[in-house]
Amino acid sequence: MTPRYLTDTFAIAPQLSIADVADAARQGFRAIVCARPDGEERGQPTIKDMERAAAEVGLTFEAVPFAAGATPPQVDVDRLNVVLKGAGGPVLGYCRSGNRAAQLWALAQAGTLPVEDILAAGHKAGVDLSPLVPLLKQEAATSTTSHAGPGRRFDVVIVGGGAGGLSAAASLLRRRPRTTIAIVEPSDTHYYQPGWTLVGGGVFKAQKTRMPEASVMPKNADWIRSTVTHIDPDTREVTVADGGVLSYEVLVIAAGITLNWGAIAGLPETLGRNGVTSNYRYDLAPYTWELVEKVSRGNALFTQPPMPIKCAGAPQKAMYLACDAWRKRGVLDAINVEFDNAGGALFGVQAFVPALMNYVRDYGIALQFHSKLVAVDGERRIATFERTTGDKTERVEQSFEMLHVVPPQIAPAFIRESGLGDASGFVAVDPGTLQHVTRQNVFAIGDSAGTSNAKTAAAVRKQAPVVALNVAAALDGKPPVALYDGYGGCPLTVERGKIVLAEFGYGGKLMPTLPRWILDGQHATRLAWFLKKDVMPPLYREMLRGHEFMVEPEKISRT
Ligand code: FAD
Repeated sequence: MTPRYLTDTFAIAPQLSIADVADAARQGFRAIVCARPDGEERGQPTIKDMERAAAEVGLTFEAVPFAAGATPPQVDVDRLNVVLKGAGGPVLGYCRSGNRAAQLWALAQAGTLPVEDILAAGHKAGVDLSPLVPLLKQEAATSTTSHAGPGRRFDVVIVGGGAGGLSAAASLLRRRPRTTIAIVEPSDTHYYQPGWTLVGGGVFKAQKTRMPEASVMPKNADWIRSTVTHIDPDTREVTVADGGVLSYEVLVIAAGITLNWGAIAGLPETLGRNGVTSNYRYDLAPYTWELVEKVSRGNALFTQPPMPIKCAGAPQKAMYLACDAWRKRGVLDAINVEFDNAGGALFGVQAFVPALMNYVRDYGIALQFHSKLVAVDGERRIATFERTTGDKTERVEQSFEMLHVVPPQIAPAFIRESGLGDASGFVAVDPGTLQHVTRQNVFAIGDSAGTSNAKTAAAVRKQAPVVALNVAAALDGKPPVALYDGYGGCPLTVERGKIVLAEFGYGGKLMPTLPRWILDGQHATRLAWFLKKDVMPPLYREMLRGHEFMVEPEKISRT
């Protein structure tokens, strides 16, 4: 296999054989990209077989197939960009001749490299990319990213292009398409985090939960690919990492919640090794399933840190799916499963506890309340907990074969440092209007908000139209018009194929979306599993596009 290099980090080749994959790894490639659909010619190795071969030699594999003669779809161009940025070394693209892979690469460079350089790179590898010139020029002109700079003013600046930031922007643009919006987001990949539980449970492949940020960024918004480091609410300015400044009329904070891995001594060094995993990271969730498949005896520990955390049910979801797999494999009895929960209850809303307790008993799980993970020794496979009984707290060491950790979670630092936080550091907003308690032109959505709802994407679904309506009112100099009811949802995956769907609002008030005779959230149901696995992922994508399904925010009456 002789690759033809376009640049130091990207090369092309004609159709690879299975054996070529190991050769590519030996030549130093870190990722392989297939630009050709299956079945174009007899004997062509399938994408699935190539993916397996790549995994065996530790290479990333991405399939972005399109027909010869067709224009590469933007979503595939974006995917290649994600691979190029994340591979950490050279990437090898292939198709029948290598040309389609080169075309994808060319479009991925539009707006970043001058058109002449792109053509020259193609020429070097023996590919004529000149038919793409009009497209390359057009792409360069409409490149989705831009930069903060002196004097850049927007009607709305949104900090964070995750579930909340994107949904709020899209909902606002549907109502007021001419609003100028900047979304500050450093990552070029958007993750569907609710899918990570299913990755850790062996149901989804990790790749299914990631998409190029460019593919979910609203077309009419300016994407500032950077990190907000400071907000000055007096001058209405946001400073980003490279020192650039953006001015706003209205600010929406949607920066999520910070995972504080470092708060547990020894944890960062051993994550992803020595049986230590977490569904709270894209790259680690597959390791959870790998461990579940491997472990046949010994101690399996699942931890839950103090609240608040995003998706408070996720620590136990990982555990139930593991237990279900172990039971099906006939090894559950040989595994001591323990749930170490820093809190004092299995779930925050009592109505759902009986259904969960049935599974705890059934799987033989030992519950340890007020048991907080404080240290991990990966090499020795020892976890240390601080356990409180009455007024006595002691340190307890526990050996493990598998340790699933959910890290402590804190508000992003820049919120407190900007004087916009409450006592816990999250944005101090009114729980109904999501407007800041003292700054009328500041709002929060999602996990950054200092509200007591369940921090979930389900909450974002209900918050987005409220924020959109209230931001629009603020832009008109008017008071808020819509109220959020505190709705949040937590689909507890108690076994593969069944879910206890906990839906509730402020104060633990039960708020089922469907009538109880269709879906009883206080019992495990197959319908809820179907919703989680098949309906929610596309629904989430629609939410990011500003589609508001079954959401009608309460309006504030001012009579
Ligand atoms: P995020 O979606 O996390 O987005 C925050 C964005 O802000 C990120 O893109 C980040 O890069 C960006 N950012 C951070 N700091 C800055 C900065 N300084 N400047 C600029 N940008 C910044 N929810 C459910 O509804 N159902 C579930 O079943 C479910 N399961 C889950 C399972 C797991 C394992 C996890 C981890 C989460 C789960 N969630 C679930 C929770 C859900 O994913 C989050 O509540 C949701 O993503 C919150 O949206 P957000 O916009 O507040 O934060």
